[in-house]
Amino acid sequence: MAIHETPVSSPGTIQDGLSAEQFFQSVTGFTYDDFILLPGHIDFSADDVALDTQLTRNLSIKTPLVSSPMDTVTEAKMAISMALMGGIGIIHYNNSIEEQRDEVRKVKRYKNGFITDPLTLSPEHRIRDIDELKANYGFSGIPITEDGQMGSKLLGIVTSRDIDFIRDRDVPLSEIMTTDLVVAHEPCTLEEANQILKDSKKGKLPIVDKDNRVVALISRNDLKKNRDFPFASKDDNKQLLAGAAIGTRESDRERLEALNEAGVDVVIIDSSQGDSTYQIEMIQHIKRQFPTIQIIAGNIVTATQAQHLIDAGADALRVGMGVGSICTTQEVMAVGRPQATAVYKTARYAQAHGVPIIADGGVSSIGHIIKALSLGASCVMMGSMLAGTEEAPGEYFYKDGIRLKKYRGMGSIEAMSKGSATRYFSDSDRVRVAQGVSGAVVDKGSILRYTHYLIQGIKHGFQDLGARSVPALHKNLYENRLLFERRTAAAQAEGGVHSLHSYEKSMI
Ligand code: NAD
Ligand code: IMP
Repeated sequence: MAIHETPVSSPGTIQDGLSAEQFFQSVTGFTYDDFILLPGHIDFSADDVALDTQLTRNLSIKTPLVSSPMDTVTEAKMAISMALMGGIGIIHYNNSIEEQRDEVRKVKRYKNGFITDPLTLSPEHRIRDIDELKANYGFSGIPITEDGQMGSKLLGIVTSRDIDFIRDRDVPLSEIMTTDLVVAHEPCTLEEANQILKDSKKGKLPIVDKDNRVVALISRNDLKKNRDFPFASKDDNKQLLAGAAIGTRESDRERLEALNEAGVDVVIIDSSQGDSTYQIEMIQHIKRQFPTIQIIAGNIVTATQAQHLIDAGADALRVGMGVGSICTTQEVMAVGRPQATAVYKTARYAQAHGVPIIADGGVSSIGHIIKALSLGASCVMMGSMLAGTEEAPGEYFYKDGIRLKKYRGMGSIEAMSKGSATRYFSDSDRVRVAQGVSGAVVDKGSILRYTHYLIQGIKHGFQDLGARSVPALHKNLYENRLLFERRTAAAQAEGGVHSLHSYEKSMI
């Protein structure tokens, strides 16, 4: 034997990585890019991976993805699509109580195939108003109601065929709208409505109530591309799950009442530092007044913070401080924690108490999602990854030829000026200390397609790790079979694309 005296008879004698317990013993805080997971053994296909997971103690979902309660990320459109894909959206609260309640209602009342918030105009609007809508929303047919609002009496419909060749764009819609209408009457199933639409050969079919008020619309284009969503997140009444964010002020108790009325399933108590008496009192208040609403408390990054909120009654914890893509908290407040360490330490404590944790912020790739779940998180919350999709609030704009959408921190000056400042600062406060920035992200297309891509990617990662499900992954983690290895800066460079003259990176 030339070099080694003893032959290596079993791989166990070679140190292949560290368990999470060993890896996170270090006093250094790590983030996702600081480590790599070692592969497991594959004896199943990626399609066999199930991503069912706990969102809270009592709510389970089929996809571990949550959209962040930010005003450039989650309103009803996003929340509906996230729930259809098996995740959940949390409606932000940088708006009035009524606005937030209405967004939650839209999610709870959503019926697949029905457009429950179609754009509507009044007979007094002009053709140029339609041109404007068309430019912004790329639409083709619009119901005309008495006062231009949804829920008011239907008077006619205007489609592109009615306006294509009219030169004078100041003509009022009352002069050109079609008034001989084919409609469907409520209550009606999607199948019934679709049949009427097919028979009528029209492009759009308004659904009206007994007083002829518009309650929904279905469109021929949607009919063609209508799909099933077998993994949709639903409550016992088969309505989509809806989440909403609240604060801890007195007015948030009123907000909570409105959200409860709208049928909210879960609330997030939204704060960068959730370990406070404000939050503990709010948790106790919710548990007393609305025991069926599930509570996600946070944000936290330590086991001690987790203990305080779990003891108060939290049903899940949101983890991450100062790691969001738009965040300046660690820079300004000097407080926070690198995310991988934060997720592992809090999850380790919370799992012993049956409380799931949501890894929030700092996720910018499928690999980060897989790492967060490998560290014990049950779900991952995303802002920047989902901003820029069609379903995110806001309009697209072009800069340097690239199609973009705005994305901003909820603690940015811009977001605070929109409304949240009153929550964060008393009137006597003169100086606002921002904890976030305002920026833009690239167009990612529809969330339906995008989350499908994320889900497939996560399944492949699980396959490589040899885990068929989130509970199986967590079992490997806590039984020390999941192996971690530190990455040097050179290893990180090696793990990325390198040594090429040029390349293109397409996400989908
Ligand atoms: P916050 O409402 O928790 O805190 C703002 C200020 O108000 C703090 O000084 C807080 O102590 C005080 N406050 C909160 N409730 C109170 C009450 N009931 N009575 C008296 N004072 C009270 O909000 P925030 O932490 O500044 O976060 C603002 C937004 O920005 C949130 O949407 C949050 O998610 C986001 N944010 C997140 C992070 C993060 O790292 N996850 C960091 C910064 C900001
Ligand atoms: P991202 O997915 O990395 O973009 O991070 C999104 C997360 O950042 C959110 O879910 C919040 O927890 C956090 N966040 C939102 N607004 C702010 C802010 O203004 N400052 C710091 N963090 C924020």
